[in-house]
Amino acid sequence: MDIDTEIIQNIKGYLEEDEGKALHEYALAVSLTGPCLEIGSYCGKSAVYLGAACRETGNVLFCIDHHRGSEEQQPGETYFDPAVFDYHTFCMDTFPCFRRTVATADLENTVVPLVCRSELAARAWKTPLGLVFIDGGHSYPAVKTDYDVWHKHILPGGYLLIHDIFQDPAKGGQAPYDVYRQAVSSGNFKEEPMVGTLGILRKKGDK
Ligand code: MG
Repeated sequence: MDIDTEIIQNIKGYLEEDEGKALHEYALAVSLTGPCLEIGSYCGKSAVYLGAACRETGNVLFCIDHHRGSEEQQPGETYFDPAVFDYHTFCMDTFPCFRRTVATADLENTVVPLVCRSELAARAWKTPLGLVFIDGGHSYPAVKTDYDVWHKHILPGGYLLIHDIFQDPAKGGQAPYDVYRQAVSSGNFKEEPMVGTLGILRKKGDK
């Protein structure tokens, strides 16, 4: 895997190494299917894993994030980080951090950042996708919206990956898991073994 581990270690974010490697592997697998798209880039850790695969195969990675932080990253909340808070606008702003990651990891010719809410980008979206990775807001409305507006763009044989799947409510919030179960119940996806908290679903149908 063509990823600099020193770069990865220095990026803020909550993604385990085995989960990152799985992202990389599935992004490689869809190189002939279609582009990759992630929702919830934060400082770019998952983008480095996905992006390195896309760079290797000449594919493109779209990275959607409004970069204002999700609910749990706001001041006073559990995952607030003052290092990515802009005291001029008094808002979270992880975009400078994300851009630095993309430049450092040599992904400027692979990654297309979309700095907006995911449903805004989806309103004009027409490009079929090989892989969608959902790791944006973790409230039920946020995850459900991300699923609703993006799953239909995944090509047969492509993948829907959802982060932070906790089957045990004592271990974490249930919204990603609820939406994951809905995707399975739709009959449009086949479950693959999870990696850490990464749920992996393959879109059914002929390639
Ligand atoms: Mg996550």
